[in-house]
Order: sequence, then C-alpha cells, then structure tokens
Amino acid sequence: MALLQLEGVTVRFGERAALDRVDLAVAEHEIVCVLGPSGSGKSTLLRVVAGLQAADEGRVLLDGSDRTRVPAHRRGVGLMFQDHQLFPQRDVAGNVAFGLRMHKVAAAERSRRTGELLDLVGLPGAERRSVASLSGGEQQRVALARALAPEPRLLMLDEPLGQLDRGLRERLVVELRGLFGRLGTTVLAVTHDQGEAFALADRVVVMRDGRVAQAGTPLEVWQRPSSEFVARFLGFDN
Ligand code: ADP
Ligand code: MG
Repeated sequence: MALLQLEGVTVRFGERAALDRVDLAVAEHEIVCVLGPSGSGKSTLLRVVAGLQAADEGRVLLDGSDRTRVPAHRRGVGLMFQDHQLFPQRDVAGNVAFGLRMHKVAAAERSRRTGELLDLVGLPGAERRSVASLSGGEQQRVALARALAPEPRLLMLDEPLGQLDRGLRERLVVELRGLFGRLGTTVLAVTHDQGEAFALADRVVVMRDGRVAQAGTPLEVWQRPSSEFVARFLGFDN
C-alpha cells in the first residue's frame, strides 16, 4: 500500500485549476521529485498534502486512510517551504526545536534530538549560533533539521535548495539522498531543476498546467519522454 495517495485531486482558484484531477502515489521510503515549470501546480500539490490548502475535489490518503479533512497539524507530514522562513530572532537550536515544542516533546529530549539532528545535517555544535550569522547553505540545513525534527512519516520539500548556488546544490543533493536513505525517510520534493530531481529521486513526476504529464523513474522519463512537452522541458532540444 502506498504511504501517500492522491485520487483525482482538484484545486481551483477562480476559473483556473491549479491542480486538475491529479492521481499520485508515493511508496514508503520512496523519494519522489515533482518537476515542472513555474505555475504548473507543484507548490499547491504539496500544500494540499500538508493540509494547508483544501481540495475542491478528490481525496488525499495516508496509509490508506482518508485524510482529506484532517487538519494540517494532525497529518503527520512535514513541509519545508521554498523560502525556508527561519525565525531570525531565535538561535539555531530554537529553530530546530520549534517543531518538537509543537509536538510537546520534553526539554531534555528536545535538546538531545536537536544535537542529533544538527550532526545529521552537517552542523554539529551549532546550537547557540544566531541564524543571521549563517550562510545560505547553513540556513538551508537548519531548515531541513527543523523539518526532520518531528520525524514525519512523509517529508515534503518545496525547492529545498532553491536559494543556493549550483555547486553547493549539487553537493547537498548527494548528501540528502544519502541522509534520506539512512533514515528511511519518505520524501516528496518539488524542484524546477531537472538535474536536481534526477540526482535525488527514485521516481520523478513531471507536471504541466496542474496535471501529471509523466511519472516514472528518472531513466524511464529520460529515455522515453511521453510528449513533446516533457522532452522540451527536460532540455532535449538544446
Ligand atoms: P508552482 O509551484 O508549480 O510554480 P503553484 O502551485 O504555486 O505553481 O501555482 C499553480 C497555479 O495556481 C498558478 O497559476 C498560480 O498563480 C495559482 N495559485 C497558486 N496559489 C494561489 C492562490 N493562493 N490564489 C490564487 N491563485 C493561486
Ligand atoms: Mg512553487
């Protein structure tokens, strides 16, 4: 059974469907990357799964049970936003532990887990550093640690490396893949960068105008794009 399943999910903003009858399944431990041009519905897809955006039609199932009407904080999914929105007035530990406080984890346990998470994302001992003193890449790592803190069954990342320069992104993608593999994290990530998606994902989903244009392993999509649009989007014509 899929950990996450979307069945015919439609989200409309006025006349326009940001998502148009989307079907999608993510298996446990799988890393799925959603690719697509700007405005194709990628962020809306994550927001619907997180419960931050209501679906006009269709169902969102987690572990086979319908969570379409379950509020965001009870869905057991983590979402790391595009502009990671750290709290600038709190130190690194304060940011990472934020999710744990929300989940009523006791203070001693919070600080132990915060230390572990910072080791995990490559920022050991950074607890008391101020967020403002960190580089863009370091801030991204803090945001990732914060998203991982409540140990979500499903971790969703919206352009997780979007703010970083290419060299750093390429290194972090490899690290992330290793990290998720070790933790057994199920991941649904959004990117508009095909290189990033192909390096990170077990499976990619290409979106166009709120619909799934193609889904498959990176190799399948690379070798057999299902349409002119997918081929063009993946850059085969240049
Ligand atoms: P992507 O993340 O792929 O760039 P989005 O999911 O953000 O795409 O947006 C998909 C479409 O829905 C776009 O046309 C966008 O303008 C529209 N949209 C997204 N959020 C809203 C909103 N809150 N209100 C109105 N339109 C929205
Ligand atoms: Mg987006």
